[in-house]
Amino acid sequence: MNPFASRLDNLKPEGAYVVMTQAQALEAQGAEIIHLEIGQPDRDTFAHISQAGIDAIQAGHTRYNPPSGLKEFRSVIAKTAGEQRGMLISPNQVVVGPGAKPGLFFPTLALVEAGDEVLYPDPGFPTYRAMIEVAGGKPVPVPLLEQHHFSFNLEAFDRLVSDRTKLIILNSPGNPTGGVMPVEDLKHIARAVLDHGIWIISDEIYSRLDLNQEGVPSIAALPGLQDQTIIVDGFSKTYAMTGWRLGYGIMPEVLAQRVDLLLTHSIGCTATFTQIAGIHALTSTQDKVAEMVADYRKRRDRLVSGLNSIPGISCQLPQGAIYAFPNVSSFGVPVVELAKRLLFEAGVAVLPGTDFGEFGEGYLRLCFAASLQEIDKALERISNFIQKVY
Ligand code: PLP
Repeated sequence: MNPFASRLDNLKPEGAYVVMTQAQALEAQGAEIIHLEIGQPDRDTFAHISQAGIDAIQAGHTRYNPPSGLKEFRSVIAKTAGEQRGMLISPNQVVVGPGAKPGLFFPTLALVEAGDEVLYPDPGFPTYRAMIEVAGGKPVPVPLLEQHHFSFNLEAFDRLVSDRTKLIILNSPGNPTGGVMPVEDLKHIARAVLDHGIWIISDEIYSRLDLNQEGVPSIAALPGLQDQTIIVDGFSKTYAMTGWRLGYGIMPEVLAQRVDLLLTHSIGCTATFTQIAGIHALTSTQDKVAEMVADYRKRRDRLVSGLNSIPGISCQLPQGAIYAFPNVSSFGVPVVELAKRLLFEAGVAVLPGTDFGEFGEGYLRLCFAASLQEIDKALERISNFIQKVY
């Protein structure tokens, strides 16, 4: 048999799915596990959005549509995404896909040549490194600094950015840290980007989960940046639609045309009725989103204050997204081991920070899209376990 293509040799599974599978295996043996590992809303899609999808199927919207998405949907996205960020966006810049992931992956494939360097946040969403490697690029991790709200370590960034850099990936609010990059940091990065002609992918999937309600700045809105930035956003987190698979990228038209070709020859198009539900999500009341964000804020506060009351753990208040990222380095054990023991001995499923890169050592990720009762129970179990073992 001929060998596999080597471009996939370094790909690894996503930690969240691995731990979820382990937790489910324990549950099948009768264990009672609290799930704080997977990053998705614990509620169903808002009923009025689901109904719009059901209505669309019943009305026969079940055929192919253009690869980059329905014209009306792209217009609605251009309008709402532009209003959110204070930018003028043309519908031709919008490329719809099944989830936000295609908006990350396909522009990377369209931009990165073999050997090109790509800077990305570490700890960061594992897909970044995977897509850089599949495209043949050289992944260059930029460490995030806990003492700087988990924004880029700008000194490291200045050392790492060069004429070899083709693309920089940003994620704010960030997974796994919940950090929001301050506008001064974005301006600092913008200066380097403009000097070197570098592209940016700004993953803004958590931009509406702005827990402090202080606003999440987008680098794309800075002067001169729109022509070299891809904004990635979607419906999974904001509208509790993870399983629908609906997201988009906003990029310069010339790049959108190339990404359209990749969509045409890979996924074909995104489900038509799903997009119709998406139009409804964006154009109807946003009350449910506000309610959900208020709810996440309460859960975040409960989880973070509970973690900080456990001796040896210190946890910053995440400003956005749905994750707490406590520092557990004082226990002096690799976090892979700690996360495993918490699952098997305390019945709490969490992720080791190293699932998000080498700079995640010393941290755990806990998703607080869980009920207050579950959060309280998890805190009690973690506290008891830590007292007993460390
Ligand atoms: N970007 C980040 C930072 C994420 O955390 C996720 C999902 O967890 C995605 C992108 C992917 O989103 P989607 O499920 O819409 O493809």
